[in-house]
Amino acid sequence: MVATLTPTSISQENERNPWLAAAARFDEAASRLKLDDGMRKVLGSPAKEIIVHIPVQLDDGRIEVFTGYRVQHSVARGPAKGGIRFAPDVTLDEVRALASWMTWKCAVVNIPFGGGKGGVICDPNLLSDAELEKLTRRYTAEIIDFIGPERDVPAPDVNTNEKVMAWIMDTYSMHARHTVTAVVTGKPRSLGGSRGRPEATGRGCMIVTLKALKQFGLTPETCRVVIQGFGNVGGMAGKLMSAIGFKIICIVEYDGAVYNPHGLDIAALQRHRKETGSITGFAGGEDMDKHEAMFLECDVLIPAATENVIHSGNADRVRCRILCEGANGPTTPLADLVLAEKKVFVIPDILANAGGVTVSYFEWVQDRQGFFWNEQLVNQRLEEIMTESFDAVVEYAQAHNVNNRIAAYMLALDRVADAIRLRGLYA
Ligand code: GLU
Repeated sequence: MVATLTPTSISQENERNPWLAAAARFDEAASRLKLDDGMRKVLGSPAKEIIVHIPVQLDDGRIEVFTGYRVQHSVARGPAKGGIRFAPDVTLDEVRALASWMTWKCAVVNIPFGGGKGGVICDPNLLSDAELEKLTRRYTAEIIDFIGPERDVPAPDVNTNEKVMAWIMDTYSMHARHTVTAVVTGKPRSLGGSRGRPEATGRGCMIVTLKALKQFGLTPETCRVVIQGFGNVGGMAGKLMSAIGFKIICIVEYDGAVYNPHGLDIAALQRHRKETGSITGFAGGEDMDKHEAMFLECDVLIPAATENVIHSGNADRVRCRILCEGANGPTTPLADLVLAEKKVFVIPDILANAGGVTVSYFEWVQDRQGFFWNEQLVNQRLEEIMTESFDAVVEYAQAHNVNNRIAAYMLALDRVADAIRLRGLYA
């Protein structure tokens, strides 16, 4: 990552490579901070990349081998921290980018972690529960020397959940010969999970959106919101935001979109999806073309699913005032340029979705102390951190005349570089 990339030096063909997207933002922030070449090399290279091949005996007796990754981008500020995703299209470049984003995210909200990410190439929809459990346990066993409460603390991400975290925790604990709850976060409550963790990413999105509204003199009641993704992040953000008066006018999912200009009843939509398996055909709204839905005129757009949904081919069609990035990497660097021209107020992913890892930090603290907080305390501390971090990013952006994304990267890079300088290089 030392050769300097700028958003404009990224071509349309490779704008969707997340590692290049991460590198473009990194380079811009590093140049503005005038980081020296050596520091750029250190921060621009992942500290460790583990590739494992995971044999699993399937229910029908066949043996399949899956490929898994765990990348620790940085441990300069503390143990690596970040989720594990299960998806058919996972790549090492993607995991690398996501790991680096975790480093910057933890630094933006100033929690004592580095960044890591894991991924296993598989389609969890095609695997039974028993097969998923075997895959998870064997993957854990393969990376066991590299994880731990002091080393690297995984968490849920795309297609992984509390149940998967419980299997990781149990596998690790069986090897350690004692129960180690702090090895993962996002666990079930009865196994050392934190109150408020399931809602945390969505709640964080709500907190920063409320802060951004103030800049526009808007109130939740006057605010139309479109959410792309109705999983843990989008679903929770929608539920919490509609409860305080936001009008969620559209939910966009992979299998369709549902629209109601007066605001959707999110709890009812969740019940409908549970009963029918899809958000489409909901009586409290009308179905609409999922490819058009993201471009509805609205005040807040929350992409809360996967990477690269806003790119050079569609960014000019985005019609929101505030873009709150609930997903990691939903906007490509080329799209950033278009959004800047359109004066969209971007709350960048490494700030907007940091509520999840912030409450993961609280979970890790609680596990290590064996002392658990009530939900009010979790939410109050989350609000403090998200609010302070939002203010820090926006003030930094104004002071240095950069956009919010580059401000967040600059703040983060500066903090991580400081830790590396103070520690020195061990040789
Ligand atoms: N996967 C989430 C993220 O991308 C949460 C990570 C964590 O809690 O460690 O931020």
